[in-house]
Amino acid sequence: MNYYDYIIVGGGASGLMMAYRMSKDTFFDDKTILILEKEKKDTNDRTWCYWEKENGEWDTILSASWDKIIFKSDSYKAKENIVPYKYKMIRSKDFYLKIWNQLKRKQNISFQKDTVISIHQLDNEAEVIAENQVFKTKTLINSILFTDAYKKQIEFPVLQQHFVGFFIKTKEDSFDNTAATFMDFTVEQRGNTRFMYILPTSKNEALFEYTLFSQDVLAYDIYKTEIEKYLENKNITEYEILEKEQGSIPMTCYKFWEQNSENIIHIGTAGGWSKASTGFTFNNTTKKTTKLVNFLKQNLPLVEFHKVSKFWYYDLLLLDILHEKNHLGSSIFSQLFKRTPVQKIFKFLDEETLFYEDLQVMLKMPPKNFIRAVFKRIF
Ligand SMILES: Cc1cc2nc3c(=O)[nH]c(=O)nc-3n(C[C@H](O)[C@H](O)[C@H](O)COP(=O)(O)OP(=O)(O)OC[C@H]3O[C@@H](n4cnc5c(N)ncnc54)[C@H](O)[C@@H]3O)c2cc1C
Repeated sequence: MNYYDYIIVGGGASGLMMAYRMSKDTFFDDKTILILEKEKKDTNDRTWCYWEKENGEWDTILSASWDKIIFKSDSYKAKENIVPYKYKMIRSKDFYLKIWNQLKRKQNISFQKDTVISIHQLDNEAEVIAENQVFKTKTLINSILFTDAYKKQIEFPVLQQHFVGFFIKTKEDSFDNTAATFMDFTVEQRGNTRFMYILPTSKNEALFEYTLFSQDVLAYDIYKTEIEKYLENKNITEYEILEKEQGSIPMTCYKFWEQNSENIIHIGTAGGWSKASTGFTFNNTTKKTTKLVNFLKQNLPLVEFHKVSKFWYYDLLLLDILHEKNHLGSSIFSQLFKRTPVQKIFKFLDEETLFYEDLQVMLKMPPKNFIRAVFKRIF
C-alpha cells in the first residue's frame, strides 16, 4: 500500500512544479505519484521574482511586472530599461493555488500531510521514513535539505542571501511603480554586502527587503530597524505593514547533486538549483523541472541529471571573493552595472552566454580580485 512509482518529498516551489509537470504529461497517467509535505501550503509565505523575455509560463498568476530596474550605490545610480526582458513577481499563494487546482483533477496523484524524517537508498528502490508511515518508491524526488553537510565542509565557501521584507501601504502616493529596485547599496555596508530590494506594486504599496550576502544571519530587529530607517530617510513615516517575509537562501558551489543516487534525485535548493552567486532559484526551477520530467520519461540514470558548467566555476570565484572580503559586494556590483548592459548581465546569470560574452561581463568587474581568486583556486 505504501509503494508509489514516484514520491515527491516537499511540496514547495520545486516539488509542486514537478508534480504539476507530471500531471500535465499523459506519460505519467498510469503511474502512482505521492507528494509528502508537512503542511499543505495555501498562504503567501514568499514572493518570487525573476526576469524573463516577454511572455512566460506563469504570466497568468503574476501580481506585478516591470520593464525597468533601478540600481543604486554611492558611486553609480541608474534606472535601466530591460526590454526585451521583464522583471516578474509571483506571490507564492497564487502559485500554490494554481498548482493544486490542477493536481486535484488527477486520480493518480495523492497528497499526504506528514513530516519526513529521513530518506534512504536501498537495493533498487528508495525509502522514505515519515513521522506516521514508511513509504517506498522506484523514484524519489526530494526537495528537503536534510543535512547541513554543505555548511560543515570547507572546500566551497558558504554565504547566505538573508533578508527580511515588509510589504507596506502608505497613505499617500509614495512610490515609482514603473521600476523595481534591484539593489540599493546606499545603505550602510558595515563590512558586508548589504542592500535594499524594493518591489513597488502600486504607487502606495511596495515590498522592502533588507538583504545581505554574508555568512551570518542577523537578529530580526536589525533588519526591521534598517527598513524603518530607510523609509524614514525617504520621508515615508505613515504606513501600514500588510505582510512580512523572511528568508535565508544558501549561496554556495557545494555539490548538492553528489547526493543523487540510483533511485533518489534532489531538486530545488536541496539539489543545488539556487544560483550560487545570486540565490535566484525560481526561474531555474521552471527550466530544470521541464528537463527532469523528460529525463524521467526516458528512464535515464538519475546520477547523470546534473551537469557542471563553466558558470559553476564563475560563481565560485565571486563567492571566494565575497567570502574573504565581504565588503566588496557594493563596488563589484556597481562596476558590473555601470559597464555592462543589464540584458547582458541577465543573459550571463541565466547561464546562456558564450565564452567571449562571459569575458565581456567578467572583465568589467574589478580584475585584481578575480585574478587573485583564480590563482588561489588553481594553486
Ligand atoms: C522568503 C523567500 C523569498 C524568495 N524569493 C525568491 C525570489 O524572488 N526569486 C527566486 O528565484 N528565489 C527566491 N527564493 C528562493 C527559492 O526560490 C525559494 O526558496 C523556493 O521556494 C525554493 O524551492 P524549494 O522547492 O527548493 O523549497 P521550498 O519551496 O521551501 O519547498 C520545500 C518544502 O518542503 C517542506 N518541508 C520541509 N521540511 C519537511 C519535512 N521534514 N517533511 C515534510 N515536508 C517538509 C516545506 O514545508 C516546503 O514546502 C526565496 C526564498 C524565500 C525563503
